Amino acid sequence: MEFDLARISPEDVQELERNVFVGSIETLKGWVRSNSLWPLTFGLACCAIEMMAAGAPHYDLDRFGVMFRTSPRQADVMIVSGTVTKKMAPLLRRLYDQMPEPKWVIAMGSCATAGGPYVKSYSVVKGVDQVVPVDVYIPGCPPNPAALIYGINKLQEKIRYEAKTGKRVTG
Ligand code: SF4
Repeated sequence: MEFDLARISPEDVQELERNVFVGSIETLKGWVRSNSLWPLTFGLACCAIEMMAAGAPHYDLDRFGVMFRTSPRQADVMIVSGTVTKKMAPLLRRLYDQMPEPKWVIAMGSCATAGGPYVKSYSVVKGVDQVVPVDVYIPGCPPNPAALIYGINKLQEKIRYEAKTGKRVTG
C-alpha cells in the first residue's frame, strides 16, 4: 500500500500504526533476546521436578520462547534447580564457563538460593551465587512452575533493560 503523506487520512494513520514498528536497534535486540531464552537445565534435586513441569504442556514454557538445551554451547540461561553440593560446584562452574556471552543465571528454590534445608550440611554450597553470578532468585521449597515463569518474566524485563541502557544489573 502506498501513502501520499500530503493527504494522509485517519484510515492511513491506523494502517501505519498497525504495520510499522519504529524503535532503536537496542530495543529490538533486547526484545529478541528476551523472547528466545535457551536454558541449560541444571536439575540437581526436587526443584527440578517443578522445572520439568513448567516445560510440560500445562504450563508450556515454549510460549515464552524458552527452549531447553542440553549443551552449554547452545544455552544462554542456566536454571539451577536443586541442592548444589561442594562436589558438583566445580562442574557447574565449568559448564557456566562453556556458555557463550551474553548469559544469565536463575537460582530456583531455597537450596540454590541459600542452601535451603541443608544449610548446615558440611557438603552443601550455601547459595549458587558463591559459584556463578546470579541474576534472578526464586524463593520456595520448591517454587511451583508459576513461580519459575514469574522469575523468567523478571529476567526478560532485566534483559530488555540491559539492552536498552547498556547497563548490567546484578543480583
Ligand atoms: S529447595 Fe526444597 S524442593 Fe528445592 S531442591 Fe531444595 S529441598 Fe528440594
